[in-house]
Amino acid sequence: MVEPKYKRVVLKLSGEALAGQTGFGINPPTIKEIVKEIKEVHDLGVQIAIVVGGGNIWRGVTGEEVGMERAQADYMGMLATVMNALALQDALENIGVPTRVQTSIEMRQIAEPYIRRKAIRNLEKERVVIFAGGTGNPYFSTDTAAALRAAEIEADAILMAKNNVDGVYSADPRIDTNAIKFNELTHLDVIQKGLKVMDTTASSLSMDNDIPLVVFNLNENGNIRRVVLGENIGTTVRGK
Ligand code: UDP
Repeated sequence: MVEPKYKRVVLKLSGEALAGQTGFGINPPTIKEIVKEIKEVHDLGVQIAIVVGGGNIWRGVTGEEVGMERAQADYMGMLATVMNALALQDALENIGVPTRVQTSIEMRQIAEPYIRRKAIRNLEKERVVIFAGGTGNPYFSTDTAAALRAAEIEADAILMAKNNVDGVYSADPRIDTNAIKFNELTHLDVIQKGLKVMDTTASSLSMDNDIPLVVFNLNENGNIRRVVLGENIGTTVRGK
């Protein structure tokens, strides 16, 4: 059997990844496709933690734009990620992948609270751990949650699955035809060049903790597996 390059990963799925064509809400057939890909990687013996976003349901900034208090709107966003986490859990368990959801804000009736040691133990027991609720703090993003959890559980890499974008470009390739794709970068390059990969908080946390990030296209079958096996697709952003 081929040896995976990464043994423990944090897979960042944006809320939009779960929304399908409409870009809004939860689309079960789309989730079904994604979890098949996750199962393939799980079958390789790779430990997988998922950090899921909530932008398909609600974003704090949207609320702020229409006059809501930002922190309040952000809490709504964090709750949105919990709905996505439960949908993912359901779909994974339907195909026989054992899971645990851990929330950064306690909701004991529906999920475990986030406990670092327990998260690691779950991974060791071959359960996919889904981290919901972001960091549990307003003004942060689920990208930052991915960087934070990756550092905490000592993940080998963050896999950032993008919707219909196959890596990091010098400009938005859908707008600028001269945009070039980077194969490799450092987190510092991302920050200095102002590239749109993660927000700066997430990038600096990943830089300080030397966590590699692989940005790749989720919409191509088998891509999560390819990345885990070390195939050079997408863009790798190195820690140092
Ligand atoms: N959020 C937050 N703190 C966190 C993570 C998320 O306040 O640590 C809120 C924030 O309002 C954000 C929303 O949850 O807009 C959804 O998360 P995000 O935008 O990161 O989701 P994605 O873009 O990945 O779907």
